[in-house]
Amino acid sequence: MECFFCEVLNKKVGVFEVYENENFLAFVDAFPFVPGQIVIITKKHSFSFINFEIFSKDFFDVIKKIVTSFLNLGYDGYHLLINEGSAATFDHFYCILIPRKKDDGFSFNLKKLNLNEKQMSEISELIKKNIKEEEKVAEEKKEEKEEKEKVEDVEEVRRFLEKIKRIP
Ligand SMILES: [Zn+2]
Repeated sequence: MECFFCEVLNKKVGVFEVYENENFLAFVDAFPFVPGQIVIITKKHSFSFINFEIFSKDFFDVIKKIVTSFLNLGYDGYHLLINEGSAATFDHFYCILIPRKKDDGFSFNLKKLNLNEKQMSEISELIKKNIKEEEKVAEEKKEEKEEKEKVEDVEEVRRFLEKIKRIP
């Protein structure tokens, strides 16, 4: 069976569109927490938020357009939910925008935990350490790439010199 959101993109499943740009399509959620909830999907299958650098302009464009409409239409707040992996219902990037109004009765209704300082410190250290390691890996990759480009530049100059040598 084809992915549901790909079927939407291929027009095999009809949706009530509200906005689209080069990389995203936004439409009315048929199974919302509150009416007016909007689903936003990528126009490419299975795209992770982690790879969003190239799409970020289009992503913020679609969010901004819909949030602006929410506010113009009398909503006074919203939730932006991004779901991936075990948090997601679909294996195709999507997020939902939930419009909110004071006293609209919506609630996530989850029992909140109360962490102690040791627990918070452990989480903080773990994530900070991981971010540092990721930055180190990214820095090493960047250096490797620059080094490779340098070698390619030298090769290009060498080929150019070879070429002009052959010109009588
Ligand atoms: Zn898909």
